[in-house]
Amino acid sequence: MNVGADGRKIAVVTGASSGIGAATARVLAAQGYHVVVGARRVDRIAALAAEIGGTGRQLDVTDEASVAAFVEGLDRIDVLVNNAGGAKGLASVAEADLDDWRWMWETNVVGTLRLTQTLLPALIASGDGLIVTVTSIAALDVYDNGGGYTSAKHAQGVLHRTLRYELLGKPVRLTEICPGMVETEFSLVRFDGDQERADATYQGLTPLTAEDVAEVIGFAASRPPHVNLDQIILKPRDQASARRNVRTG
Ligand code: NAP
Repeated sequence: MNVGADGRKIAVVTGASSGIGAATARVLAAQGYHVVVGARRVDRIAALAAEIGGTGRQLDVTDEASVAAFVEGLDRIDVLVNNAGGAKGLASVAEADLDDWRWMWETNVVGTLRLTQTLLPALIASGDGLIVTVTSIAALDVYDNGGGYTSAKHAQGVLHRTLRYELLGKPVRLTEICPGMVETEFSLVRFDGDQERADATYQGLTPLTAEDVAEVIGFAASRPPHVNLDQIILKPRDQASARRNVRTG
């Protein structure tokens, strides 16, 4: 299948089976992009692609062969949203699980590197490419028991910010999105399916929604080619930093 043959601009969104990725795919589709959505849970991807008139393909960003199959037949790419990622566990450095760290580094850091390297030639060839990377406020700060996630998000942010320098002079913009607390499946994944623990993360405060973040990504994508929004930090009003929030509810 040749995606892009109808002349519409193409946006690729990784990790689009839930949360920020799914909401971003909807926003970009509403802006007129043909959106190619990927994640490991292919049933959800197929349903979303049908809903937004896009293309859904299975994608595991940690797997070279999966990425190769995902990008096959994409004639052009205008926007890449590196969103696939997440956290596993909440443990001190002293007690951290090495497999959790490997999962976070492989998914957030190496996964972003793999997709970006693969699609970069097409993004440059588009004449007005955009790479959005969803890092986190965890890419800017540290917090107790968060070392695996904060180190991965710092590295992902550094990768993205390095590219901003390396691509100067090329027609590609780079936008880093750094959200604070967003209520998605993020905490459910972090706490290995423990719904009660996941719910407690958001109790007593009003977190961002996936749509709040997606609207900001849509805003960045709809700026004219000479305007580069380098880094956008957005947090709930109830959260001042990764270490400090208020619970009044
Ligand atoms: P989410 O609802 O858990 O979504 C994570 C997405 O990543 C899912 O679609 C998941 O799909 C996908 N994913 C995970 N591993 C993958 C892999 N190996 N290959 C392809 N896709 C993979 O959480 P979210 O909050 O929307 O997270 C989106 C991004 O925002 C992440 O990078 C996260 O670190 C970041 N973020 C989240 C928050 C927050 O508070 N929620 C705050 C700041 C930043 P499958 O499981 O189907 O593959």
